[in-house]
Amino acid sequence: MLLQILTYPDPRLREIALPVKQFGDPLKKLAEDMLETMYHAKGIGLAAPQVGRLERFLVIDCRPKNEHGRYEIKEMTELEQKITQPLFMANPSIVERRGKTTFEEGCLSVPTYYETVERAQWVRVRYQDLEGQEQMLETDGLLAIVIQHEMDHLEGTLFIDRISFAASQKIKSQIQKYGYSRPTSQKETEKEPNKI
Ligand code: ZN
Repeated sequence: MLLQILTYPDPRLREIALPVKQFGDPLKKLAEDMLETMYHAKGIGLAAPQVGRLERFLVIDCRPKNEHGRYEIKEMTELEQKITQPLFMANPSIVERRGKTTFEEGCLSVPTYYETVERAQWVRVRYQDLEGQEQMLETDGLLAIVIQHEMDHLEGTLFIDRISFAASQKIKSQIQKYGYSRPTSQKETEKEPNKI
């Protein structure tokens, strides 16, 4: 079932999500709906608060695809290749982070806007799977960036809070003026795949 994706400045995107307590079938249903919603919106990650569910839960599938829709596993880092996607994470917490990297991020809740954001280059994350089993993973590459972006949503933080004041104000005032239907250039349209 397709869910509605909330967009900034919806106040529900600013709340702190609560721990997932129910695993198994109810969580699988949410996972399935979120995944369908994310693929439909051509996103590569989605956090439960973005669909109005204030729970600490994420779905991610950021495997690179070629123009024929085939996965390009070669483009992933060695650590990324070891992790099965789509990835479902309940109650994630970063237990270790290393290095710094930057990436031009977009967000399904701030559609059509993109800005360079700094994140840790490598992370080790503890989380629970759909059955409530404790899991641990370590990754770098795009997957590390997406995990950090999605985990921000659980704290009510958006990527526009992690950029310079001037860049953030520019995006916010454009949204105020045009909403999400401002005229976009060809260059911006080409960036579409990085909606996290
Ligand atoms: Zn996002």
